[in-house]
Amino acid sequence: MSPETLVQDNVAENISNTETEAATTDFDREQFDANVMHTYGRFPIAIARGEGCRVWDTDGKEYLDFVAGIATCTLGHAHPALIEAVTEQIKKVHHVSNLYYIPKQGQLAKWLVEHSGCDRVFFCNSGAEANEAAIKLARKYAHTVLDIAEPVILTAKSSFHGRTLATITATGQPKYQKGFEPLVDGFEYIPYNDITAAEDAIGDLDEGNRRVAAILIEPLQGEGGVRPGDLEYFLRLRKVCDETGILLIFDEVQTGMGRTGKYWGHENLGVEADIFTSAKGLGGGIPIGAMMCKKFCDVFEPGNHASTFGGNPFACAAAIAVAETLEKENLLHNVVEKGEQLRKNLRAIALNYPDLFVDVRGWGLIDGMELNRDVELTSIDIVKAAMEEGLLIAPAGPKVLRFVPPLIVSSDEVEQASETLSKVIQALV
Ligand SMILES: *Cc1c(COP(=O)(O)O)cnc(C)c1O
Repeated sequence: MSPETLVQDNVAENISNTETEAATTDFDREQFDANVMHTYGRFPIAIARGEGCRVWDTDGKEYLDFVAGIATCTLGHAHPALIEAVTEQIKKVHHVSNLYYIPKQGQLAKWLVEHSGCDRVFFCNSGAEANEAAIKLARKYAHTVLDIAEPVILTAKSSFHGRTLATITATGQPKYQKGFEPLVDGFEYIPYNDITAAEDAIGDLDEGNRRVAAILIEPLQGEGGVRPGDLEYFLRLRKVCDETGILLIFDEVQTGMGRTGKYWGHENLGVEADIFTSAKGLGGGIPIGAMMCKKFCDVFEPGNHASTFGGNPFACAAAIAVAETLEKENLLHNVVEKGEQLRKNLRAIALNYPDLFVDVRGWGLIDGMELNRDVELTSIDIVKAAMEEGLLIAPAGPKVLRFVPPLIVSSDEVEQASETLSKVIQALV
């Protein structure tokens, strides 16, 4: 396409989509690459603005957004409730310090306690930090309650828990750890959904060889391929933990805050956590993380753990707006309904290409489509082709497509995404 055609197309789009705003935004990719660290393999588009479930790139091209900042923009883009909450809050006070009481933090904590099985909340800024807090709490619990000198935390293979040193160690995927050794002591890995392996790793406690302090696990593995937890497995894990005093810690960074059609992913499994973490969707795209704890909250004493930005008024105002909107707009119902619609459509596509797809799975609006390992096509190939056609989806590993749209997604948008994907696959095979 010639630059002239591009400009003309943009002018046409400008007229049809927005009457007042210019459709193109200045962006210098070379300058970006010269100045920003190359820690990401970025797709070649730059996003300029968003509204609802749609975003526009710097050339004015429109995309249907089924990535939502990786399961983060719970209310989509530019939601009026979120805009109002953060605008009002920044006018009043946006940051102080946890040296003082922060009313908004208390209000958010109350909502989280009332909408989960937890007793108290610690606030931070990201998923990795929330998991770090859980790991530290589990270790202190091991030393002070279980009397274990060198506590071990079990995590699952194919899991993902973050990018700090402790959380890449917790992450049961060598590709995230390679090159950053030495890793942190005290982590061991068990296959996901395999209760015998978990029991073997815990060992026989009668012999006085107690060493496992906690099991840190996702109710549904997100980055590891959108793999839901097995009901029976989690019930048995809960029972083992109850019998042994081992803490059951759920990493709900991706599955929390309504994403699965319940407030928390573990509600789909009918088991409660001793500790669980949340981040991604919690602030609807404003950075905030949280560790929620039951019974053992007082293991942490003043001075044990902290975060400068954690739970600041701005981030908490955003999360409260997300929480209130989930309720006001009955979004959990929408998540269940649109999730079923999406999986039904994805299954229909998969059935048309039985050699290409081996599985469609997920809960609510975290859904995955798994590609046959024997075919050459990867999830990235399909993600790129879909992007060309105006649909944003994300890979979850080399062989799984991930669909995590905003929780406000409409039935028409689910249809449009499914139709685009179908066309894209037809053109690829
Ligand atoms: C994204 C994610 C994390 C890490 O969250 P950050 O905010 O990137 O630190 C941890 N656990 C799970 C399950 C995640 O999906």
